[in-house]
Amino acid sequence: AQRVAQRVARVKPSPSTAAAQRVRELKAQGRDILDLTVGEPDFDTPDHVKDAAIAAIRQGDTKYTPVNGTPQLRAAIADTFERRHGLRYPTDGITVGGGAKQIIFLALAATLDAGDEVVIPAPYWVSYPDMVLANDGTPVIVPCPETDGFKLTPQRLESAITARTRWVILNTPGNPTGAAYTADELRALADVLLAHPHVRVLTDEIYDEIWYEPGQATSLAAVEPRLTDRVFLTNGVSKAYAMTGWRIGYGAGPAELVTAINTLQSQISSCPSSISQAAATAALTGDQEFVRRTVAVYRARRDLTINLLGDIPDLSCTPPSGGFYAFVNCAAQLGKRTPSGDELRTDEDFAAYLLESQHVAVIHGAAYGSPGYFRVSFATRDDVLTEACERIGRACAALS
Ligand code: PLP
Repeated sequence: AQRVAQRVARVKPSPSTAAAQRVRELKAQGRDILDLTVGEPDFDTPDHVKDAAIAAIRQGDTKYTPVNGTPQLRAAIADTFERRHGLRYPTDGITVGGGAKQIIFLALAATLDAGDEVVIPAPYWVSYPDMVLANDGTPVIVPCPETDGFKLTPQRLESAITARTRWVILNTPGNPTGAAYTADELRALADVLLAHPHVRVLTDEIYDEIWYEPGQATSLAAVEPRLTDRVFLTNGVSKAYAMTGWRIGYGAGPAELVTAINTLQSQISSCPSSISQAAATAALTGDQEFVRRTVAVYRARRDLTINLLGDIPDLSCTPPSGGFYAFVNCAAQLGKRTPSGDELRTDEDFAAYLLESQHVAVIHGAAYGSPGYFRVSFATRDDVLTEACERIGRACAALS
């Protein structure tokens, strides 16, 4: 009989893709769905970035590039890391792939053998555990309660590390919570990591430009230089520059890791799209006004959403420090009954109830390893956010 490999059978399809599919089906049936599941900016890619891509096509930059990306893009990435974190990576310590997602997958593929463990703080981005499973590793999920700001503490990190630990994944600012580690918090985690030299850290900083706190988001590699050769820093242009469809992400770290990633990349895709690389170079080196303007818009939407949700009894939400998601605590709603008499036992029941009764689509917290919550994306228009929060309030008021 035909069969798929065990590594595929272990992987579950992304719950956000499943939610998006459900929203599409309901819309196709003519239902007016307010969609708060979206994981990408609602802005268009800036014009100067599009122009750079068009120029690349016209001047014939339409061939294979080096496996690890064009020298121009890697230089732009190196300058970006220097500007943001004061870190100077050599350009051969940087590699470019088809999105941060591909870079993270390749980093795991390049380093994991069967049974190797990867520490993943929860709430986590849905892809991490499945990427680990797809690469024969074992995800070690560490629940990080809201009372700890959804962040990994040094004690929890220490107890999660074993002789088989290969990686710890830190996503800051994080999806789905928007929680971000301060320099002091990173310092305390670094102290634990320094005592365990066999553990590497993958930092996913894809949301670092979408930032609401004073100053800028901090990076572990910048906080503890002694960890630089054990940190793999990943980022990309998808979120900050509204370029999700261009598929460009990148990573920087120790040369042997980057070389191993490049070896895999050379047999997987040969290189990322030459045209998208030209566009990403323009995004990183060009005027940053787009980022300033859109972050101001996200900030206003964040405040609007937090305030409206905060007014609903038995819901609460820790304000996100970055990104465009709010992770809403709905534990106090569970156990209540809907007008038709059904008991809402789980956050998944709650999300289904919002969708069926009020046509508001959100993603339930268990999808991120944290039951009792739901995620809303505020990468959408104010009127949609306002109406959606009103409907969520109505849905909650109808429970008994
Ligand atoms: N990391 C996190 C935490 C994300 O939320 C996403 C996108 O949803 C990615 C990485 C992947 O981004 P991309 O592959 O578009 O660069």
